[in-house]
Amino acid sequence: MSRSLDQIVSGKGLLVVKVGSSLLVDGDYRLRDAWMRRLVERLSNRPGPVVVVSSGAIALGRSALGLEGRPRLLAQAQAAAAVGQIHLAGAWASAWSSLGRQAAQILLTLGDLEQRPRYLNARATLETLLERAIVPVVNENDTVATEEIRFGDNDRLAARVSALLGANHLLLLSDVDGLYSADPTDDPNARHIETVDGITPEIQALAGRARSDGVGTGGMASKLQAARIATEAGIEVILAAGIGEDPLGELANGARHTAFHAERRPMAARKQWLKSLQQPQGWIEIDSGALAALGRGSSLLAAGVRAVHGEFARGDLVRIHGPEGPVGQ
Ligand code: GLU
Repeated sequence: MSRSLDQIVSGKGLLVVKVGSSLLVDGDYRLRDAWMRRLVERLSNRPGPVVVVSSGAIALGRSALGLEGRPRLLAQAQAAAAVGQIHLAGAWASAWSSLGRQAAQILLTLGDLEQRPRYLNARATLETLLERAIVPVVNENDTVATEEIRFGDNDRLAARVSALLGANHLLLLSDVDGLYSADPTDDPNARHIETVDGITPEIQALAGRARSDGVGTGGMASKLQAARIATEAGIEVILAAGIGEDPLGELANGARHTAFHAERRPMAARKQWLKSLQQPQGWIEIDSGALAALGRGSSLLAAGVRAVHGEFARGDLVRIHGPEGPVGQ
């Protein structure tokens, strides 16, 4: 077993586990209770602290609302999430408490991680729980998050929570057992990739050709984005299939997965946070001289600014447009 996998299964470091909807919810939109309990049992045997990032609220709420398939209207999805989340959080709390541990529900919206004071506040809350050996169970606050201001998928949410806490490992449990050179469902020559040492443009290009679907929303592109955010923050990432009865046991016995190695010299925490932001509050058009100066690491001076769009305040994220268009996309 690789060192990273050994640490995930039985290490002392902080582990963030992301559990996809398709693992938690069966074909009839019912919770896979025995599966959840088995996972919790494995996680509780680790000496190190654990944070669970759990999807499944919308999928679990569907049947209560009598919805067939994925809700089409935002209000329906949000209502389904409201019903499903209470059930989901209750199930996690009960699974942990049967092993003598407390769980805590944390529902985050994008703004909680995009605005620095709220980000620091969320971190302090999570750290307070972890100090007391309470297991945070995190999800997006789907009931209030609107389409334009969402994390969008729990892969990125899990990566950003991992970076926020300076976790050691991120385990993405999903319906795929790793990254492939092509979509394995329709290309028999698709090659499984065991380790990734950097999310290069070549690796990024594979996302378009691989697929993950079912009841979740993530897909391979979001898994790679998550892996990039986390590895840049110095976190080892494992992407593995979770659909079996005992995914951690299967991993310990050598089940197939992809390991994304952490960057050896991660960015400073504040830069990581800046880089992971998703929602610019405005944009600033600058001239070529100012663009060159920014490229050298200098500050932006008013003389180089051609136009300012949007409303933003000190500390907000803005996009820079040079003479050729948006920079750094
Ligand atoms: N937050 C969504 C839910 O709980 C899931 C999002 C995702 O699977 O990426 O239903």
